[in-house]
Parts: sequence; C-alpha cells; structure tokens
Amino acid sequence: MTAEIIAVGTELLLGDILNTNAQFLSQELAKLGVNVYCQTVVGDNADRIYAAYEAAFQRADIVIATGGLGPTQDDLTKETAARFLGREMRLDQASWEKIQAFYQSMNMNADTHTAPNSQKQAIFPEGAVILPNDNGTAPGCCVEREGKTLFLLPGPPNEAIPMYLNAVIPILKTKTDAQFVSKMLKICGVGESAAEEMIKDLIDGQTNPTIAPYAKTSEVWIRVTAKAADEAEAAEIMRPTLEEIRRRLGDHVYGEDEDTLEGVAVKRLLEKKLTIACAESCTGGALTAKLVDCPGVSGTLLEGAVTYSNEAKMRRLNVRAETLQKYGAVSAETAAEMARGAAETAGADIGVATTGVAGPGGGSLKKPVGLVYLGLHYRSRTSVKELRLAGDRQKIRARTVVNALDMIRRRLLEEEEEE
Ligand code: ATP
Repeated sequence: MTAEIIAVGTELLLGDILNTNAQFLSQELAKLGVNVYCQTVVGDNADRIYAAYEAAFQRADIVIATGGLGPTQDDLTKETAARFLGREMRLDQASWEKIQAFYQSMNMNADTHTAPNSQKQAIFPEGAVILPNDNGTAPGCCVEREGKTLFLLPGPPNEAIPMYLNAVIPILKTKTDAQFVSKMLKICGVGESAAEEMIKDLIDGQTNPTIAPYAKTSEVWIRVTAKAADEAEAAEIMRPTLEEIRRRLGDHVYGEDEDTLEGVAVKRLLEKKLTIACAESCTGGALTAKLVDCPGVSGTLLEGAVTYSNEAKMRRLNVRAETLQKYGAVSAETAAEMARGAAETAGADIGVATTGVAGPGGGSLKKPVGLVYLGLHYRSRTSVKELRLAGDRQKIRARTVVNALDMIRRRLLEEEEEE
C-alpha cells in the first residue's frame, strides 16, 4: 500500500509555519508499513489543489490532505475534492448540529459570530465518511474512488493528530489483512554510520522484519518493523532481530519506543536514591532543563548552576584560579573541578558539569569550536570526557546535553556492573 500527503496552506509555502503534519503522518504511516513516496505542499488555490489530487491519485492508493477545512472562502480542500471526484456537496445534518452546539457552548452564534459561513464545515462530498473532530469545529472525511481513498484532515495539528489516530488508522487497518508492528531501539554513544556498520549484514539481509536506522541529535534510533497477522506474531518475528541488535550494540542501547535519555537517567537516579546537581557553562541551563522535563525529578535534582564567567566558576563552584589560569575555562581540569564543586556545594551525590566552545566565535587552533568537556563527580571519583562536536552553536549545545545525560546513565550502569 502506498500513500501520499498533501499539505494545503499558503502559510506553509511562505515558510510561516512548518509542515509538521506531513512529518507526523509520514512517521505514522511508516509504522503501519505504508510507503510514502511523495509529499506535496500547495497553497490555498483551487486549481493547484486539483492538480495535486490528480497527481497523487495517479501514484498512490491512499491520499491524505491536511488543512483548508475551515469556514472561510480560502478553505478549498473539500470543495476541490468534490469537484475532482465528481461528487455533489451535501450537508451532513449531524455534523451541523454538533458545530452549532459547539458554538453555543462558547456563547457564540454559529452564523453570526464566526466566519461568514460556518455551515460550510458540515458540507462534504457525497458518500464521504465523516471523521469527527473532538478538538475543533471542522470534521474531516474519507472518500473512496475506484479502490483509492482520500482522507481530508484539518490543518491544526492538535485536531489532525487525534483524528488520524482515532479515525484514520482504523480505516487503514481494514484495507490490509496484515498488521505492521514496530519497535524503536534508542542508541547513544555511537554515531549513525558506526551503528549501521555494526548491523550492516542484518540491514542488507532484511525482509521481515525490516530494519531502518535514523540519525537524531547525538543519538541513533533503529526501527524494526514486522508484518504479521497479529501483534503476538509480530513480536515473535521481531524478537531474534531485536536481541541480535541489542547484543551487538550493547550498552549503547539506552531504551526503546517512548524512552528518553533524560527519562532513563532520572529513573536510574531515583531507583538508586541518588541526588544530582549540575554546573553548566556552555549549555546555559539546558542540561538542568532537560532533567526538569522528567516528572518526579525533584526526588533527585537538587540544583543547577549556570556559571558562565570564570568568576562565577570560582565563587559558586570553588574552581581554583590557578586551574582557570593554567588550563583555561574550557579544559578537562576545569570541568572536573566544576563537577566536584557542584556536588560538594549542593551536597549532592553526583555533580555533572559542562564547559565548551559553542561558537561561532571564540575558537582557536588549540581549542576549536565544538571542543567540549564534560565532568562527572561521584563517590570521590571525578571523570572527564572530551568531545569534538560538529554543528552550529545550537547543535553543539544540544549535543553537549545529550552526551552529558549519557555520561550520567553510563556511570550508573558501570556501577551496576561493578556490583
Ligand atoms: P481551521 O478550521 O482552524 O481554519 P483548517 O483545516 O482550515 O482549520 P488551515 O486554516 O489550513 O486549517 O490551518 C489552520 C492552522 O493549522 C494553521 O494556521 C497552522 O497553524 C496549522 N497548520 C495547518 N497546516 C499545517 C501543517 N501542514 N503542519 C502544521 N501545522 C499546520
């Protein structure tokens, strides 16, 4: 089964908004084993929307369009679909009543308080299956023609995403006997090409399950997808491949599916009843913020200090003036003293520190942009990691955070292995 996505909206073409609907839909369709070979972005223009439908219907079994279902005159997606499919437009009474009730609940009159014609949102191509919208007014719909299916979803992601999950997936599943089940393995500490090299023979020989690596910011995700009659059979098909990938990548695998690096690190800290404090220079609080993303982090995180200047490093963390003078702020020695200082001054079990040259200026031959040191102090042992990171300022800082979280995770893992 192949699918195409058409995102409708002039805002998208102008670059005012990002086409996150297409990203979401592509990711979700891949999970179902549906191949997406083409995505289109088209403005609010009937002729160009028509041409996009025409082209997509020639190539794909499933076409999903998002945006342009609203009440205004420039919302043309449905009307153009009806013209393309050769269908009349018909009022769906149930949808219209729901829309009126929605406006009434907001103390608004559907006809006078909203866009010129809010009833437009309840009019669909003849024969369409209506997809309810629990998060907005414009319902979506699904229309079939000659074995091909067109889905029309609203533009706002908070409406399109639940509609896809609740209404589109069940329809897509009726179109195939097979189920596609995926598992994502999440990896940190090894680059994409190195990770791929380690499992190259598995990727080359893949049929069912399929294996697809994805590069993320200082992480690699590997998606394993099985085609089977049901979930239990899919799990059985995936098991040996997942075990083999885990065996080869070892400690680099930090989790799967919804796991996050910060979530895994915080979970370990909480399990071991350890407290942590951060001392951040180049990351400017981003490491602490990532930890704070995790619910329950108050059980482990004591504080995060953004110590950007040398003076702050000395005053707040007791980094020695001689260390800064002799080795500089971006050095293994400073990172170590920052980490120890963070732990000792906060009274935490673990201190973790970041210092580096995020660029674009400030680099030198000896200390180029992207040179970062991480420090970790735990149980009177301080370890330091030197990183040479690529990318712009934001990328370098984001990669530093990921590597620092990974350093925490690995230190706790080492301890388990020592025990
Ligand atoms: P509404 O009923 O709100 O008018 P609609 O279905 O007509 O919804 P649009 O008017 O096309 O949708 O878009 C509404 C908003 O939805 C846009 O301003 C934008 O914020 C968001 N949006 C639209 N298309 C996309 C997309 N492809 N990806 C991400 N966001 C989008």
